[in-house]
Amino acid sequence: MAQNQTRSEELFDRAKKTIPGGVNSPVRAFKSVGGTPIFMERARGAYMYDADGKRYIDYINSWGPMMLGHAYEPVVKAIQDKAAGSTSFGAPTELEIEMAELIVSMAPNVDMVRMVSSGTEACMSALRLARGYTGRNKFIKFEGCYHGHADAFLVKAGSGVATFNIQTVPGVTAGVSMDTLTAPYNDLAAVQQLVDENKGEIAAIIIEPVAGNMGCIIPEPGFMEGLRAICDKEGIVFIFDEVMTGFRLAAGGAQERLGIHADLVTYGKVIGGGMPVGAFGGKEEIMRHIAPLGNVYQAGTLSGNPIAMIAGYTMLKTLKDNPGIYKELDDKTAYLHKGLSGALVDCNVPHAINRFGSMISVHFSDKPVNNFAAAAAANNTLFNNLFHAMLENGVYLPPSAFETWFISTALSMKDIDYTVEVAGEFLATLR
Ligand SMILES: *Cc1c(COP(=O)(O)O)cnc(C)c1O
Repeated sequence: MAQNQTRSEELFDRAKKTIPGGVNSPVRAFKSVGGTPIFMERARGAYMYDADGKRYIDYINSWGPMMLGHAYEPVVKAIQDKAAGSTSFGAPTELEIEMAELIVSMAPNVDMVRMVSSGTEACMSALRLARGYTGRNKFIKFEGCYHGHADAFLVKAGSGVATFNIQTVPGVTAGVSMDTLTAPYNDLAAVQQLVDENKGEIAAIIIEPVAGNMGCIIPEPGFMEGLRAICDKEGIVFIFDEVMTGFRLAAGGAQERLGIHADLVTYGKVIGGGMPVGAFGGKEEIMRHIAPLGNVYQAGTLSGNPIAMIAGYTMLKTLKDNPGIYKELDDKTAYLHKGLSGALVDCNVPHAINRFGSMISVHFSDKPVNNFAAAAAANNTLFNNLFHAMLENGVYLPPSAFETWFISTALSMKDIDYTVEVAGEFLATLR
């Protein structure tokens, strides 16, 4: 080992030999912010501990699932108990019914639900179902929205695709991308134009109802209502991708918070309590078309896996039975917002902080940030510098300006005060 090398640096060098880029998901590589990714060893509550034993206040929370903090005891205990009775059957279990009934009881407009193992699978399957149901091929997505890495969605996608500034993805055929139409977020007129130009050909409009993969972007008043109206008029399936917002913004997700109903909804992240889980659901009339009831094929060897189900069930039941959690999350996020905003104003740094519930992000922009173009035009080099200053001081932010920060209930007001203090110290160096 070279002198002064951290254990993370050592592990990263070793990882790169057998894992492409040293990581199993691109944003983890710190490529856009620079430097070496931090290898984690364990986490509890609001804190993660790296391979060198250094502690970080966590603002990623596994990209959302750890809403109640890491190693949340009821979830850990439920997993341990369940594992003793076998980790997989490949046959149906009562627990899957309980999970479906719980989801249906919490999510508006969801009569039936199919479990999968990731958000990618959920979105890919929901799109196939919308196409099978309508008999149409094309669909509309929004620039900077991320719906997982299925071929059809890798056109003007957010998250890592935006972070690495990937314009076209090799391996995605032109034939597939041709059916993916894109519009800027919050631009209803652009959507109307696409619909007019492709009359009777659009199967679905899919959207992150509060976008989180270009930083946090909030839907402007009337935008969702307008999309809903277009879908009703044209017989288009309106898909809410609630992989990020589901069970985070409210027990009923963005549908509940925005008061808009979707035809199909996709879930991931929180729904698995930290295990690999996704789901898609909606009205019975549409869901009936999924195999084995209908002909739209969709399957999964490990779908509804007992360990994944008990983790997710325990998480969702806690959220359903304790609505105060949402108020606590909102209050803590508002407190962080106020603190950061104060520090930015004090130091005269142009900024736009977007917050919705417990999703928040900071863009170094002198204009409001309401779509991908505005997020991309911000001073993201400054974000990268902030990221490293925070990391140095034990605060772990998402390693890209194109990601939302996620708050957990485990975060204390003292943790937030410390976070604001460290951010303030960095910002003061810019004066
Ligand atoms: C994370 C995410 C996905 C993809 O989920 P994976 O579990 O990573 O496949 C899809 N849609 C949105 C909105 C997401 O945030």
